[in-house]
Amino acid sequence: MMFDEFSIKSLIRPVPDFPKPGVVFRDITPLFQSPRALRLVADSFIQRYVESDFSHIAAMDARGFLIGSIIAYELNKPLILFRKQGKLPADVLAESYQTEYGEALLEVHADSLCEGDSVLIFDDLIATGGTLLAAARLVRRMGATVHEAAAIIDLPELGGSQKLHDSGIPTFCLTAFA
Ligand code: AMP
Repeated sequence: MMFDEFSIKSLIRPVPDFPKPGVVFRDITPLFQSPRALRLVADSFIQRYVESDFSHIAAMDARGFLIGSIIAYELNKPLILFRKQGKLPADVLAESYQTEYGEALLEVHADSLCEGDSVLIFDDLIATGGTLLAAARLVRRMGATVHEAAAIIDLPELGGSQKLHDSGIPTFCLTAFA
């Protein structure tokens, strides 16, 4: 199946003023209700990374888990969950960051990665880049490196993909909304 950006975009629903006034929430639930679209999106990432030389996939809480786990399964890579505060049961490392909506804390189990590991960090969407930059700091605190940051959607006007790029992190998104 060919990747068709137009049909993928048409399955991402804009919801104005959610979760607060002024934010246009990009709702991906319609995309998950279309088996064909879900397959197109997942297969696009799998094709991109099938020959890549990284050791782990790190998926962001919560919508990053959905496609992140499919990529990990298909590429037979270990999957690490980066979660919002208080969800992980064992010893964690934490980094705070600003989102479009306010301040948040991102956590990962402290024993998830070792020196020399190379990690694909994955989320559904890049807005300010706060989440994936915090994830990159956590990856680096464990002695590992970031292979690439990837997401389904980029919101370039919020500057996140540029910030990731400026921090030396290659970034890949399937589509963007201006
Ligand atoms: P950021 O850390 O600012 O790059 O924001 C990315 C994270 O927040 C992702 O986990 C998204 O799921 C969520 N997010 C931020 N802005 C939006 C938006 N406009 N629509 C949907 N999700 C968003």
